[in-house]
Amino acid sequence: MTDRNVSFYSYTLKALGELFHQHRLPESGPALLYNWHHKKKRTDPCVADLAIVSRNFVKEYFDFQLPVIQTVQESADRTVKFLFRLRDELTVESVLIPFNNKYTLCLSSQVGCAMKCSFCHTGTQGLTRHLAVEEIIGQFIGASSWLTQARPEDDKILNVVFMGQGEPLHNFDAVKTATEILLERRGLGLAPHKITISTAGYLPGLRRWKEEMPKVNIAVSLHSPMKEKRDQLIPLNQRYPIDEVVAFAEAIPEGRARFVTYEVLLIKDFNDSEEDAEATGLYLAGRNAFISLIPFNPFPGTSYQRPDAEKVERFKRHLDHHRIPTVIRKTKGDEILAACGQLNTRFGVNGPLTAR
Ligand code: SAH
Repeated sequence: MTDRNVSFYSYTLKALGELFHQHRLPESGPALLYNWHHKKKRTDPCVADLAIVSRNFVKEYFDFQLPVIQTVQESADRTVKFLFRLRDELTVESVLIPFNNKYTLCLSSQVGCAMKCSFCHTGTQGLTRHLAVEEIIGQFIGASSWLTQARPEDDKILNVVFMGQGEPLHNFDAVKTATEILLERRGLGLAPHKITISTAGYLPGLRRWKEEMPKVNIAVSLHSPMKEKRDQLIPLNQRYPIDEVVAFAEAIPEGRARFVTYEVLLIKDFNDSEEDAEATGLYLAGRNAFISLIPFNPFPGTSYQRPDAEKVERFKRHLDHHRIPTVIRKTKGDEILAACGQLNTRFGVNGPLTAR
């Protein structure tokens, strides 16, 4: 095996089939390999029924390295934050969020992020690079293998959300392929409605989505329908106005009674007033919308603050009047900086807790 080898984990089952075909290898190989490495999560060479000629090919051709778990932090509410070390020594974080004894896995799509949202800890670190397909899949395999070992009595990962570091639609190709791999029935086997991709409103990605992306859920970070406020929070809004973003997001769930999730971040004395709630309600009323209210999660160096719980409740009641289904996202893992918007790996292992 050399550095020039391609990662096995970057291949969809279909692409693997084409590769085997090109090399005139037995057709049964790809499904056997997917069963071994994805379903069973084995990292040693596949021997189960795989023809010798295929075994030799696989050994020569592929690299099976995955990101390595460097640290695991567990919070009292059973949230788990993983720091993964990548091949080039950069790091990314993923978070396992418990619901009873089932889990949602929050994946990162980039090292850092280019969007520079003013309320987001990842945004302050800038974009270092996109993640490769195998680095996204590696977070899933790493987290689920850890779960099997550390909490064998618990159920598995039920949902996957691309809400970790990065703007997933800015790394469209890798996120698309990784999603196809997550959905593969003969491998990891997630159902399409169990995967959600969250976007700050990166229109070039949304445009491609309609044609190319598997039918998974989409979440749009709205935060405010008011232009000046959204411009301040998400600079991307100046380039890709929210109306266009919403029009595209709504056009995506073709032919199905699907909804779009709108994330609304609430910041104390900035966008948590009744007028803000009313504007949000008016903007989303009549759409196929589901709102997730996220009280701001503070991080070192920010001047924004979290609103009082009572204010958040009042905001929700306003939306209820508009008959828009709304949940207040419960903050999990904030004492280990694992909550939404708190991920940041610029400073290394202890960085986010000690930096600034
Ligand atoms: N880039 C994507 C996904 C990553 S962020 C996006 O923007 O949607 C996932 C969610 O966490 C987004 O809704 C984002 O706005 C929110 N978020 C970011 N920083 C936050 C913070 N400090 N507190 C609460 N939510 C935050």
